[in-house]
Amino acid sequence: MRPVFSGVARLALASLLLCCAQQARAQSLSPELQAFRDIYRELVEINTTESEGDTLQAAQAMAARLKAGGFPEDDIKIISTAPRKGNLVARLRGTGARKPLLLMAHIDVVEAKRSDWAFDPFKLQEVDGYFRARGAADDKAMAAIFVANLIEYVKSGYKPERDIVLALTTDEELSDSPHDGAKVLLNQHRDLVDAELAINEGGGGILRDGKPWRLTVQLAEKVYQTYRLEVKDRGGHSASGRRDSAIYRLADGLVRLARFDFPARLNPVTKAFLENALKDESFQNAEAIRALLAGNADASALAVLTGLPSYNAIIRTTCVATMLEAGHAENALPQTAAATVNCRVLPDADVADVQKTLVRVLDDPNISVTPVGTAVLSPPSPLNPEVMGAVERIAGKMWPGVPVIPTMSGGYTDSRWARSAGIAAYGVSGIFNDPATSGVHGLNEQVGVQALYDGKTFLDRLVRELAGPARPAGP
Ligand SMILES: [Zn+2]
Repeated sequence: MRPVFSGVARLALASLLLCCAQQARAQSLSPELQAFRDIYRELVEINTTESEGDTLQAAQAMAARLKAGGFPEDDIKIISTAPRKGNLVARLRGTGARKPLLLMAHIDVVEAKRSDWAFDPFKLQEVDGYFRARGAADDKAMAAIFVANLIEYVKSGYKPERDIVLALTTDEELSDSPHDGAKVLLNQHRDLVDAELAINEGGGGILRDGKPWRLTVQLAEKVYQTYRLEVKDRGGHSASGRRDSAIYRLADGLVRLARFDFPARLNPVTKAFLENALKDESFQNAEAIRALLAGNADASALAVLTGLPSYNAIIRTTCVATMLEAGHAENALPQTAAATVNCRVLPDADVADVQKTLVRVLDDPNISVTPVGTAVLSPPSPLNPEVMGAVERIAGKMWPGVPVIPTMSGGYTDSRWARSAGIAAYGVSGIFNDPATSGVHGLNEQVGVQALYDGKTFLDRLVRELAGPARPAGP
């Protein structure tokens, strides 16, 4: 007999099936993934913005998770430098045969205004195959993965060849914070986090048309240095119509700067990046890249790459005016005209030379050039075959045919503190996301549910490969 349902009954049945399908999906998670999902949810739902959030609470919550997972209490440390500011360091003890491996992830997040978002940014949504929340990707995905994987290591009795040290840090998203967790840990608690190499954010999988396209490993970051340009003048009445006023002098200098390009120079990381980029490029762009790689790029080849901001940022130091201030009255000549110029310096360049170049290009002794803040020097991490080989082997099995590409970032991460402290840092996650829709630092941040779970598997395999199996006991 054919069952007959009324419209309402159909709807009820449909929602029943939907509910059970969702439940079945949730139930089909392995106990490990379920535990990870709970940790991830807890971490994401603790607001860790600068304005209202609390990274100390987040660090304590993750410490409690590690403890409940069997981590010895003595090996978990909370470092707090102020109220609402917390970092966590946890150490899984290995045999000590090799120097430790450091796993870094920041637990603070960029501000998120409820009224701008489509949903509460601090309530984890699981919709349409995505996890959505502030921090769903940046950087609580890696933070939660590391915590969950460490708990699995403890439970399974895994004894690596080296200590695996987890550092969850605060204030990565703020520029120049006195509580910058990575800075505090590496400069003031070096013994807690000292390591041979570090894994951090900064790289990862890129989706194109919804499919894995590239897996990037971030090996370098440009160095951030800002300068204040200033012209002082006697000022006076605007009726005088003087042409050498502070504003004109500064503006003339800025026009000279706008027309100037720092010389193109490659390092091993950008060379490897460009070699990989060739096959995705148009004939003209590929020819220009080939010429640059061969060291014989002429002006026209350079002009092609200079005209493309993404390549221009990779091949040279850049300095660009970002703020202007001048004048005190509509009818007066200014006594001061000033500009802020923000430079992104190639990581192997001498920052002092950049200032000298600015002075030369501005070409006016009346324009003073003063650094704002002190640059954090961050030499590129070497293309270490142990790390790159492990990434390629694991990625080759998980995403066959997807190239592994070394990259240099224009912005910075906590890796700069590790690199400046002499610890080679590798930005890689195995989490694939689409930069156009990820909402990182923007609205409605998201990461694919399966992409996150795959990222967890990838990082587990990478950490085990780099930390090694326990050596057999005996002679
Ligand atoms: Zn981040």
